[in-house]
Amino acid sequence: MDLDSIWDSFLEKIKDQLAETSYEIWFSETKLISLNDGVAKVLVPSHVHKKNLKEHYIDLIEEKFCEVTGTNFKFEFFIEEEIEKEIVVNTDEIGIPSTNFESNLDARYRFDNFVIGKSNKFAATSALAVAEQPGNMYNPLFIYGSSGLGKTHLMHAIGNYIVENNRKMKVLYIPCDKFVSDFVDIWRKSANENNTEIIKSFKNKYREIDVLIIDDIHNLVGATSAQQEFFNTFNELYNNKKQIIISSDRSPEDIKKLEERLKTRFSWGLQIDILPPEFELRMNIINKKIEMQDLENKFPEDVKEYIASNCVGDIRKLEGAITRVYAYATIMNGSDITFDLAVEALKDFFVQTPISKNKMEQVIQLVSENYNISADDLKSKKKTNNIAIPRMIAMYICRIYLEENLTKIGIEFGGKNHTTVIHAVEKIKKEILRDEALNNEIQKIINKIH
Ligand code: ADP
Ligand code: MG
Repeated sequence: MDLDSIWDSFLEKIKDQLAETSYEIWFSETKLISLNDGVAKVLVPSHVHKKNLKEHYIDLIEEKFCEVTGTNFKFEFFIEEEIEKEIVVNTDEIGIPSTNFESNLDARYRFDNFVIGKSNKFAATSALAVAEQPGNMYNPLFIYGSSGLGKTHLMHAIGNYIVENNRKMKVLYIPCDKFVSDFVDIWRKSANENNTEIIKSFKNKYREIDVLIIDDIHNLVGATSAQQEFFNTFNELYNNKKQIIISSDRSPEDIKKLEERLKTRFSWGLQIDILPPEFELRMNIINKKIEMQDLENKFPEDVKEYIASNCVGDIRKLEGAITRVYAYATIMNGSDITFDLAVEALKDFFVQTPISKNKMEQVIQLVSENYNISADDLKSKKKTNNIAIPRMIAMYICRIYLEENLTKIGIEFGGKNHTTVIHAVEKIKKEILRDEALNNEIQKIINKIH
């Protein structure tokens, strides 16, 4: 068997194991280039592939390859440039960085620090696909969603990825309002000096780029002449198969006063929205952010949950909360970060408590009525049995029946730690097994919840 057929049989096996997109992105463009001394060398399209295959897929790769060849091979991955360096002596052509070209990319925003979850998965995958095949996959790529959900991050990630893998490509990132103000300035200048060359050079600057990333396009409304110029730029780039990436806080149809012909063009490629992050993604982002700052051991689980429960719709805010809690702990003479400290540090930060109180409040009301105590007692720290037991029952109902998050329950019951809630739930679980009357009583309360 030759290398290609070995690799094809191997890829068939991998295909069976993976979701279609993962296979397409990570494996479809790989190629086996040699098998020597127990080492399999594989050509991959980019550095990101190298890293990802090594870190996440290596066990699967080795296992499936062994199934095909009957031998255990070690794997090494290469990108084209590295192979060329090995074989070709003349390296003149390799990766010449585009000279004097300011791309405005922010190196901090990358794919490897963009955390993926259900709400942004489609956006992230499409962005990566575009980064891997600029101009060929989805053109234009239009990313929309509310503020703080990661649009700008993703756009820079695409740009950085392209520049790192195709160093000859000219990538330009520009916020739309900067495009507008630059254009207006140039226009004025050219009129004042009666010099049309100035406008020409502005136009040329845009025409010669390979990838245009334009952020917050909704800011184009109201600027008629700039809209016209953008329209021309768009057409020219598009016709030359140059990649265009656009973001907005709403979908093209919802950008009022944007010229119809622009809306139409935006719909030629792919439009994707980023949704607000789900709880699990918020937790994963918190973990990533504190890991990046070497703070993993400083943030206990209940503090992370508290932040994730309260920052619902904006990842920028989530980052702010982490910084604030850490700063607060530092100011308090470097005390440990605890749940109480976090609540204190963030008390003005979470303006309104977005946690939906209704159902839990109903439970508190029903339980307190049933046991003839006040709701405040139920939320207090009082430990006498006539209060502590109903409190545990109420927590139990919130957890088991309403399926509320432990941290949220803790907050609802006067800022208690989630371990207190776990303890309460476990205790009542045990009690009802041996006390049928109690079980019935709880059931009656549950039946009253609307
Ligand atoms: P937008 O442009 O949609 O308003 P940004 O891209 O500026 O949002 O994101 C706000 C902040 O949140 C940035 O610091 C960004 O790094 C961070 N962020 C957003 N989404 C993610 C994510 N999925 N993983 C990690 N950080 C994220
Ligand atoms: Mg932005």
